[in-house]
Amino acid sequence: MVDWARDLGMKIKQLDNKEVLSLQPNAPMNIAGAYLYESDAHSTPEIFMKNLKIDLENKGVKFILERKVTGFQKKGSRIINVSTDKEILTADEVVIATGAWSETLLKSLGVNLSVQAGKGYSIDVASDTGISLPAILLESKVAVTPMQGFTRFAGTMEISGINHDILPKRVNAIGKAAQNYYPEVLVSQETLNTVQCGLRPLSPDGIPFIGRHSAVSNLVLATGHSMMGWSLGPATGKLVSELISEKSTSLSLKPFAPERSYGKNI
Ligand SMILES: Cc1cc2nc3c(=O)[nH]c(=O)nc-3n(C[C@H](O)[C@H](O)[C@H](O)COP(=O)(O)OP(=O)(O)OC[C@H]3O[C@@H](n4cnc5c(N)ncnc54)[C@H](O)[C@@H]3O)c2cc1C
Repeated sequence: MVDWARDLGMKIKQLDNKEVLSLQPNAPMNIAGAYLYESDAHSTPEIFMKNLKIDLENKGVKFILERKVTGFQKKGSRIINVSTDKEILTADEVVIATGAWSETLLKSLGVNLSVQAGKGYSIDVASDTGISLPAILLESKVAVTPMQGFTRFAGTMEISGINHDILPKRVNAIGKAAQNYYPEVLVSQETLNTVQCGLRPLSPDGIPFIGRHSAVSNLVLATGHSMMGWSLGPATGKLVSELISEKSTSLSLKPFAPERSYGKNI
């Protein structure tokens, strides 16, 4: 994987344990070494989203929040109305970006897309952990992100449909990994009890669905981003805006076509 990433032009350094410690002196790690991806970045989603919303509102974007889309009214191949639990909205263009819920919503439009929910758990440690480097603890499959005011430990890929049930053994596995890799970081039972879960929208081949569908002329799909939706969101947003503005897209949408080879009959 490292060679493959280097071929893409990413800067990657191999570090031994001492070099990792010199980069992150306040949270010693129980590891032989690590690969440092110098071109990687990390962020605090809650802060980014709050500021993005303010910025968009200042630019004239109107948000209609706390609504559930319950159905669509079509005229020919076009959607003309979107029904919510509170009102009916008229629409020139409709973008479906409803994550793991997309499959059910799209069925009512005659669009068959396979999107499964892949449940992930996250535990936020509020105390000062000393962790300053984001990391993927490969053997334990846990991602660690220092955020503003806390450190997030996230992991698990549970395919059990659309539900928010929490399995304690999975929570404990994340806590155990945190403790094994960072012996000086305390993840208390009280902290483990604050675990949250989210549903990643999984496509069958791990590649998102971005583009139009032949069944509806004014519909754009933007879903199936699996484990990478936070990172890929801005690029997807750009592609969606290019599609709707009838501009040529910044990159070919062929690999992301909702009707790619297997898509139609799944
Ligand atoms: C624990 C965890 C850690 C993760 N870490 C990373 C990471 O480090 N980097 C990364 O890139 N990605 C990460 N991801 C993946 C990322 O969160 C997802 O890929 C991303 O959230 C998908 O975005 P989305 O907008 O497609 O779907 P969602 O974020 O699920 O948003 C879909 C929205 O649609 C709404 N909705 C559904 N149905 C309806 C309806 N009928 N009417 C109205 N609204 C509806 C839902 O309520 C939801 O708010 C992580 C995911 C988890 C669970």
